[in-house]
Amino acid sequence: MGLTGAELKAARKAKRLNQTELGALAGVARCTVSYWENKQGQLPNSGGLNLMLDALGLEHLKYFHANNAPARGWGIIDTQQEWVNRQAQRELQRLKEREQDRVANMRVQCRAKTRKGRPCKLMSEAGRKRCKFHGGMSTGPKTAQGKARIAEAQRMRWQRYRDNQL
Ligand SMILES: [Zn+2]
Repeated sequence: MGLTGAELKAARKAKRLNQTELGALAGVARCTVSYWENKQGQLPNSGGLNLMLDALGLEHLKYFHANNAPARGWGIIDTQQEWVNRQAQRELQRLKEREQDRVANMRVQCRAKTRKGRPCKLMSEAGRKRCKFHGGMSTGPKTAQGKARIAEAQRMRWQRYRDNQL
């Protein structure tokens, strides 16, 4: 497997945990953490070590235990950083999509000038600036799928019309 005690220690420090904290997270004693961190050479497969890898978010390294893969040296830190970056990117994407959804469904006060000269107090249609009485209604399908659906509906209507003429 490709993990040394020093790398385990570095991974813990990267998470800003002390030995007691990692032990508490992993459900092992502080001295178990200390034992593995100070062990020389490549660490062997171990249940306690696996619990610590879980707690550090390094579950994927357990695979290397099992497969006795060649040593990966300090790559462990890069791997961890990549993983963190991927998670951060995914979270950012989720936030972006949520914001797009929010904007697309946002309702605001219409405020169009009414015949009485006052601004309209109704809420706008979702994602639009005006209420349904002041031009906020959908003006038809916008997406290719929506347009195709309408086109198909019209074809069907003409088909029925022609069938009835025969
Ligand atoms: Zn209005």
